[in-house]
Amino acid sequence: MANKYSKTKLEKFKKAITEKMGSVSEDIETIKEGIGTASNKQGGVTPDSIFSVHMADAGTDSHEQEKSFMLMNRESDYFKKLKVALERIEEGTFGVCKVCDALIPEERMTEVPNATKCVQCKENEKLGLK
Ligand SMILES: [Zn+2]
Repeated sequence: MANKYSKTKLEKFKKAITEKMGSVSEDIETIKEGIGTASNKQGGVTPDSIFSVHMADAGTDSHEQEKSFMLMNRESDYFKKLKVALERIEEGTFGVCKVCDALIPEERMTEVPNATKCVQCKENEKLGLK
């Protein structure tokens, strides 16, 4: 494999990704806590009050909760992607396009650490050329 990032570069990526994973997992925890609080609040509502004054509030709560769940899913997806990126670093396939073997530019790998294709190949794929 001629096209490969240097060990130093890979270490740098690894550090950045590990740090990102730390902050993403913190975000997930925060969101989880938020969802927990919202559930508790709803759990305290008696059936009577749901159908009277709190109808609108309850609706808002569940909507907020739904948003939190979506956000949490997105964050945990991102976390998984970062993990995959770390595995690629270990394997030595990080930053190498799996279609044409070209080295994917550093900026792109910083932005999308789990990218497996270079921009050109990605574009071709989008156009259905392959
Ligand atoms: Zn490529």
